[in-house]
Amino acid sequence: MSADCLFCRIVRGEIPAKLVAESDDCVAFRDIDPKAPTHLLVIPRAHVASLNEATDEALLGKVMRFAADVARQEGIADSGWRTVVNTGPDAQQSVFHLHVHVMGGRKFHWPPG
Ligand code: IMP
Repeated sequence: MSADCLFCRIVRGEIPAKLVAESDDCVAFRDIDPKAPTHLLVIPRAHVASLNEATDEALLGKVMRFAADVARQEGIADSGWRTVVNTGPDAQQSVFHLHVHVMGGRKFHWPPG
């Protein structure tokens, strides 16, 4: 846990968030500035700054599995959904606690911007 990390603070319940699912290892909550009708963030409870620092393969697997479970729970699994993991400055990562964007409910374009 990191004392001043925004998403660690959400995990600890110090900052309000619209939680949609929790497990021993992961938390999913609604993005405060959604870019799709459904836009969730799936994070590990443990503080990992980004994919660059992620070494726990089992935890990464759990995060992705949890994202798929949440997509099903939200009803976006069958029509199609997008995951995004922004890593570092050029990718515009703004919160340095690893998070998977889970988006659905509209058609997406490729390549992304
Ligand atoms: P990034 O740009 O990939 O790092 O994504 C960070 C995401 O966190 C952005 O989509 C923000 O809208 C979202 N965000 C920032 N603060 C909060 C919050 O307090 N609750 C929920 N989502 C947040």
